[in-house]
Amino acid sequence: MSPTTAALPVAILGGGITGLTAAWHLQRAGVPVVVFETAPVAGGVVTSARADGWLHEAGPNSLLEGSADVAAFIDAVGLGPHRLYAAASAKSRYVVRAGRLIAMPTSPFSFLRTPLFSLRAKLGLLGEPFRARSPADAEESVAEFVERRLGPEFLDYAVNPFVGGVYAGDRRQLSVRHAFPKLHALEQEHGSLLLGALKRRNASGGPKGRIFSFPDGLAELPRALAHSLGGSLRLSHRVDSVRRTDGAWEIAFESGGPRRAEPFSAVVCALPADALAKLEFSGVPAAAQFSALREIEHPPVVSVLAGFRRADVAHPLDGFGVLVPEVERRRVLGVLFSSSLFPGRAPEGHVALTTFVGGVRSPALAALDDDGLRQLVREELGALLGVRGEPVHYRVRCWPRAIPQYALGYARFKKIFADVEAAAPDLFIGGNARDGISLAHCIESGRRLASEVATRVGPIELAFRS
Ligand SMILES: Cc1cc2nc3c(=O)[nH]c(=O)nc-3n(C[C@H](O)[C@H](O)[C@H](O)COP(=O)(O)OP(=O)(O)OC[C@H]3O[C@@H](n4cnc5c(N)ncnc54)[C@H](O)[C@@H]3O)c2cc1C
Repeated sequence: MSPTTAALPVAILGGGITGLTAAWHLQRAGVPVVVFETAPVAGGVVTSARADGWLHEAGPNSLLEGSADVAAFIDAVGLGPHRLYAAASAKSRYVVRAGRLIAMPTSPFSFLRTPLFSLRAKLGLLGEPFRARSPADAEESVAEFVERRLGPEFLDYAVNPFVGGVYAGDRRQLSVRHAFPKLHALEQEHGSLLLGALKRRNASGGPKGRIFSFPDGLAELPRALAHSLGGSLRLSHRVDSVRRTDGAWEIAFESGGPRRAEPFSAVVCALPADALAKLEFSGVPAAAQFSALREIEHPPVVSVLAGFRRADVAHPLDGFGVLVPEVERRRVLGVLFSSSLFPGRAPEGHVALTTFVGGVRSPALAALDDDGLRQLVREELGALLGVRGEPVHYRVRCWPRAIPQYALGYARFKKIFADVEAAAPDLFIGGNARDGISLAHCIESGRRLASEVATRVGPIELAFRS
């Protein structure tokens, strides 16, 4: 960035959580920014729709306060007093085994008693600390890793449902190193998942990471960020090309009228992988590699909010929800007990259930027509939770490309991001294709991007630091 271009604003492409967070930090640090967002509202996949007393979190449903960064960020944005922690009962998570809902054990005592795992599988766990660790550079799927360390039952009934719930993914395709780096690190650092988890728990003083949302849903966060960005956020602006000129960048975009272009000092890409692959780059030959990002699989996922009278649901709904292992051969990935999780998600005397359909497991089900989907959801909720009759409220949102799959060989894509950045020092890349898929990862990604830009601009302090 030359002294002349430093006066130009920084372009941020994408107004999802990553881009908004990066912009918020930079603006607070006194760096002028312009955020380009193709949609008419900010937030990307974070969408909370309220109607007639119901709230549909069609994208993410909760945020994990795992690190101090997330908590401090929410406070700094001014949403601290609005934070709504999940009900204590949400600690219980159900898993389906042989058609029955069984609560995941949460203590050593409940683990010994749970019918979720056989005695043989439980005894097999005693050998885990003695199993050899894989070479540090080995690339293993989640299935290979978990089966090797914990055995097939834990793969089927503990890890597989979780993989379906988080990634809507396939345990055989996801890379443990890239999709679950903490799990991979436990083995590498401690030689054992069990001993490593125990040591970490003792070192950190116990389990941490409460989940939370806001009274009007997670979209309160992008709304607050958009509000503080004011005129720096340009909605309904689709960027189609990025050109590196003499020491500056030219961004071309469409916003209803004729195509326009403006100069910027630096560019932050906070776009989904396929959107980045579609951008036309000139002046950065290495960016030709972005076209390979189209190969990152993003399975479709449908989120269905179905509301019922409380009396029409037999299950007590005393938990977070239910995850469905693939071996159970059901047609849903899982169901969140949304109105048990947070207050204000359903009118008095009613319950809200959010069902996820599709994923890598069954992409064809995500393409069912309205009637087919409604019937599927009714039948599955009937079988799993004893739900009777028609929903009194019903809303569907389909994500044709929901979540990037950090599959075997994902290092290839991470190398592309690093190579392009190395070739163009004022270009920065983040978002869920690079830095992790959870909202917490994306918040951290935005902070990282802002801090890297600030370092290039000069000795600027970020207003909020970890
Ligand atoms: C169904 C679902 C459930 C989820 N559940 C959870 C959960 O419970 N908890 C959790 O932590 N995470 C969850 N996630 C993951 C998490 O929500 C996402 O990974 C995260 O929100 C991605 O943020 P992002 O800013 O990186 O990308 P996005 O939200 O995809 O934002 C990118 C933005 O770029 C814009 N854009 C695209 N092309 C252009 C262009 N050419 N010009 C300008 N703008 C453009 C898009 O419109 C979009 O707004 C879920 C995701 C999905 C889909």
